[in-house]
Amino acid sequence: MFYYGVSIDRGCMKAAVFQGVEEPLEIQDVEEPTADEDQVVVETEACGICRSDWHAWKGDWGHIGVVPTEGLIFGHEPAGRVVEVGDNVERFREGDMVTVPFNLSDGTCQHCRDGRGNICDRMVPLGFLGMAPGAFAERFPVREADHNVVKLPDDVDPVNVAGLGCRFATAFHGLVSRVDVTPGDWVAVHGCGGVGLSAVHIADALGANVIAVDIKDEQLWAAEELGADEIINATDVKDAAQAVKAHTDSSQGVDVAVDALGVAETCKAAINSLGKAGQHLQIGLTTGENDGNVELPVDNMVMDEREFYGSFGMPPNEYDQIFRMMSRGKIDPGQIVTETVSLEEVPDVIGNMGNYETVGIPVCNEF
Ligand SMILES: [Zn+2]
Ligand SMILES: [Zn+2]
Repeated sequence: MFYYGVSIDRGCMKAAVFQGVEEPLEIQDVEEPTADEDQVVVETEACGICRSDWHAWKGDWGHIGVVPTEGLIFGHEPAGRVVEVGDNVERFREGDMVTVPFNLSDGTCQHCRDGRGNICDRMVPLGFLGMAPGAFAERFPVREADHNVVKLPDDVDPVNVAGLGCRFATAFHGLVSRVDVTPGDWVAVHGCGGVGLSAVHIADALGANVIAVDIKDEQLWAAEELGADEIINATDVKDAAQAVKAHTDSSQGVDVAVDALGVAETCKAAINSLGKAGQHLQIGLTTGENDGNVELPVDNMVMDEREFYGSFGMPPNEYDQIFRMMSRGKIDPGQIVTETVSLEEVPDVIGNMGNYETVGIPVCNEF
């Protein structure tokens, strides 16, 4: 018998399985995976539930090649224990506690060799395509394990690591490795869902003055708790970008603006809140409505020499920076985890994300 090209001679496990666009995921018994020679199999202890799951479930991301097929197991923000190790895998053994960045690389292309495995030429996203079944399951396999699996320090809680998920990691990679945030810089975060709150927390830890913008007071209060110095409810002001600028020195605009939602409105508000030589960091991908395209004030960007950066997940080699900051309490992804649920509850949590009522990051920790 075969399972995603891997031979199977085992029992069954529970998993949350895709049934079709906007059809509730179903909890089903499926065959357990085994590790081929370059893989490990991880027993899931926790997995974050993410707006990206919702986007994929809605069929939003055909324009970037994410077209889930029936039978796919979702889940791309895992922490767990290695339970099986392929013959060629050198860096891991059974019992290791690990996490896995969602953008699985091949480890061999030019970008992987440059330490940028997150933009691998042959990247396969975990839990979005059938060839890489995800972690809303008792176990999941990881391709090219030596390149893609990240060993956890001894003292971290799997739920907090799942809270790192793609959101915290993408925000960290963006703010630490893509743009330049120096202490005292003004950083505006537009959109305070899971990734936005992560960006607020990280920018604060880096010593920035942080302005958080959202349309919901609950998200803004959470942003304040995580270190935002100023909060702006965009529904209370005529122009969110101008309201942001008003908080900065001589209303010049911010040094770094983050679009942490990925709709045309927040992307443009972020870019318009920048001062001269400011840097825009795009974390959110757009929805099906925008289809990957947003109109930008190009001439102003040119004349002000503003810069546009993308951040897409985080390469495995950058996780140690997060763990070192976690170990000294400088950052705490667990603060953004607001809810823990069982596998049986995952379909509803994803299905209800359309009403934008989730504050922070829900994590599944019961399989
Ligand atoms: Zn590669
Ligand atoms: Zn995610």
